[in-house]
Amino acid sequence: MSDQIFDVVVIGGGPSGYPAAIRAAQNGLSVACIDEWENRDGSRAFGGTCLNAGCIPSKALLESSELYHRAASEFKSHGIAVHGLAIDVTTMQSRKEKIVKQLTDGIEVLFKSNGVTPFKGHGRLLAGNQVEVHAADGETLVISAKHVILASGSTPIALPVAPLDSDRIVDSWGGLEFDTVPGRLGVIGAGVVGLELGSVWQRLGAKVVILEALDDFLYMADSQIAKEAQRYFKRQGLDIRLGAKVTAANVKDDAVTVNYEDSDGASSLEFDKLIVCVGRRPFTEGLLAGDAGVALDDQGFVQVDEHCKTSVPQVWAVGDVVRGPMLAHKGTEEGVMVADIIAGKVGEMNYNVIPSVIYTAPEIAWVGKTEAEVQETGRDYKVGTFSFAANGRAKGMEQTEGMVKLITDESDDELLGVHIIGPMAGELIAEAVLAMEFSATGEDLQRTIHAHPTLSEAIHEAALAADQRAIHAISR
Ligand code: FAD
Ligand code: NAD
Repeated sequence: MSDQIFDVVVIGGGPSGYPAAIRAAQNGLSVACIDEWENRDGSRAFGGTCLNAGCIPSKALLESSELYHRAASEFKSHGIAVHGLAIDVTTMQSRKEKIVKQLTDGIEVLFKSNGVTPFKGHGRLLAGNQVEVHAADGETLVISAKHVILASGSTPIALPVAPLDSDRIVDSWGGLEFDTVPGRLGVIGAGVVGLELGSVWQRLGAKVVILEALDDFLYMADSQIAKEAQRYFKRQGLDIRLGAKVTAANVKDDAVTVNYEDSDGASSLEFDKLIVCVGRRPFTEGLLAGDAGVALDDQGFVQVDEHCKTSVPQVWAVGDVVRGPMLAHKGTEEGVMVADIIAGKVGEMNYNVIPSVIYTAPEIAWVGKTEAEVQETGRDYKVGTFSFAANGRAKGMEQTEGMVKLITDESDDELLGVHIIGPMAGELIAEAVLAMEFSATGEDLQRTIHAHPTLSEAIHEAALAADQRAIHAISR
């Protein structure tokens, strides 16, 4: 017997679940959203990993640490003298927490204004589209739904040789919370988290060593861009060791000793803190009753089709808990798509045009295929590159590192991939995303007027360069 009945119940209130709930309500449906996120201080908040322990807090710290770093190393060249420069980590952390709280509280305001019923607590899908809710206040109830959207997200992958101890060996969440700058910071995994958090603490003065198991750096990025990035990060002082297999991490007294093996043999390093960030896995613990009937794949992801339908009619799943890149914007668009389909509207997701951004300095961003992926398709292609060193705005900003690389089809000029390393790459990539979404050609970008002087002119010039027509490049 159900306590309440809704058209749509969303389990998980992260960036995949809460937009799904809002869009479903905008579509005139009755909606509930259940979320169990609990902060370190015991407070409850919607927003999931992204708002509480991921995208938002990491970008707040990246901004603070970059400002500090620029004041220390770059202001001089502008004629700005800085005396007594210091970082107050407590203030930096409370700024971050304030931003997080404003945004997570904002979700509840949005729920209220859209008429979404929030439940803070654990949700479990039972058979027959019933959902059991264990509320944070101890109450248990069962609610019925015509449709259920599973949006339970992901959790860090554990590394048995480096067990977390909540003080010295931490995961990405812990790596966002240090209350002082660690003198010596170890990071296991040179992925997106490792590079972003490694950058934050390195800019503030930590000596950072990143141990990466693979021989390739940033295997998911275009290899030319990855090579550039590796060069810049090395120059910044990030010590990235590739092909390093960690065999043990032990805490003793005030330090963590990490043993690893690479092509030079066995080595050992000592750190004040160690962040383990070797990827994330889908989170489905306690989500599905035994007879709920929802199939998982062999990696533990909820199995879905291209419209996020699970194996059970009227049960859907979106975000990190299903296949595809673990990115907030990917989950958001899946949630919105599902909420529209449920309401009988058109809902589609273009999985070929999902941008990726790494918020290091310089930033790295891309959309579409890498050059190696294009080669695999067997298509003939053109490449245009343009360096920010020849871009007037980048020069004025004192941020000339990096380039735009654009790949188009040799015969029909279709835009196949755009890769950027450079200032504001995460903002610049939006032009390429839109161009690809509208099936633009390289020539369309060549004929598009870009304001001067802007960083976006580098995209224009890269498009021209694909046909050897760049204006500000020395001809070969
Ligand atoms: P989540 O955000 O994990 O949300 C799931 C929610 O469901 C959680 O609140 C969880 O408590 C709740 N839940 C789970 N099970 C239940 C249950 N049974 N009952 C009730 N509630 C439940 N992505 C980007 O795109 N850009 C970035 O800059 C970026 N930065 C990141 C930085 C870090 C340090 C990390 C760790 C991740 C970052 N990500 C970033 C990835 C991004 O956070 C995830 O892709 C995104 O949060 C996934 O959204 P989701 O809603 O699917 O899952
Ligand atoms: P990741 O998959 O990006 O990187 C993990 C890295 O750890 C890989 O390079 C992998 O080879 C390495 N690794 C795995 N096992 C190892 C081992 N035993 N020893 C050493 N290295 C090992 O994962 P992440 O950095 O943990 O990030 C998790 C997810 O969060 C990613 O899917 C990412 O997309 C998302 N995220 C996105 C952003 C962003 O969009 N800016 C920021 C942070 C996180």
